Amino acid sequence: MKLLQYKHILITGSSRGIGAAIATLFASHGAILYLNSTNLDALTNLRKQIVETYGCECYILPFDVSSANEVKAGFKKLFTLTKKLDVLINNAGILDDALLGMITPAQIQQTFAINTFSIIYCSQYASRLMQRSGQGSIINIASIIGSVGNKGQAVYGGSKAAVIGITQSLAKELAHHQIRVNAIAPGFIDTQMTQQLPDDKYQQRLDSIAMGHIGQPEDIANSALFLASDMAKYVTGQVIGVDGGMLI
Ligand code: NAP
Repeated sequence: MKLLQYKHILITGSSRGIGAAIATLFASHGAILYLNSTNLDALTNLRKQIVETYGCECYILPFDVSSANEVKAGFKKLFTLTKKLDVLINNAGILDDALLGMITPAQIQQTFAINTFSIIYCSQYASRLMQRSGQGSIINIASIIGSVGNKGQAVYGGSKAAVIGITQSLAKELAHHQIRVNAIAPGFIDTQMTQQLPDDKYQQRLDSIAMGHIGQPEDIANSALFLASDMAKYVTGQVIGVDGGMLI
């Protein structure tokens, strides 16, 4: 059964990792896709793969989600392609760990701009389009670190805790338009983001997973599929942990 047939879906940060896994799964469920990241070549390659495999409609929208002006221009382009948006996945993010004494103002600014401010920018435009059709689903990719914190992750953890606050606030604000807003909080997932960690930190995080193994991007994509689909049509304001038991 195809769960997203003819749904128009924008996924930020979908050139690789979790975003690319969501795009691929959604394509297999009949979605019409709008792929974003800052890397035109990577997006072009992914689009080619998806179109060849699933034969679906798939467009690329390269822009930097941390820039309010670029987001505005990106949505302007989206509007020339479609007058409808059913689902927005705010997935783009960066990880830039530092102990308190080493954190720089530029690092704080960049991390919050990409991980947090972008969600407000994109949700502003997306919710206007969703209001036209009287429904929609916004899915924000948070992190387990936004709830429990971690040494060296004050900036990242703060940026992701804010994502949870934004999710719950927008869920309350947009519910009467039948726009649902939920978050997924991944634990430790096998992507470029975690592959770059030093060996000791990598092992430490692996050791904290009750199920004993790292998650795959597809594990996050499966939860996103549920939240994007009508199976979750009465679910809003929730944060779904997908972490192999890191939090229990
Ligand atoms: P990843 O492989 O590094 O992918 C990050 C994606 O974000 C890439 O597509 C990247 O594209 C895009 N991106 C970064 N800066 C951007 C910008 N300014 N504008 C537009 N796109 C931008 O990481 P991932 O693991 O898939 O992470 C996806 C999300 O999951 C992030 O929000 C991350 O914080 C969250 N998360 C991941 C884990 C984990 O264990 N992997 C755990 C918890 C939460 P370009 O570089 O091509 O622009």
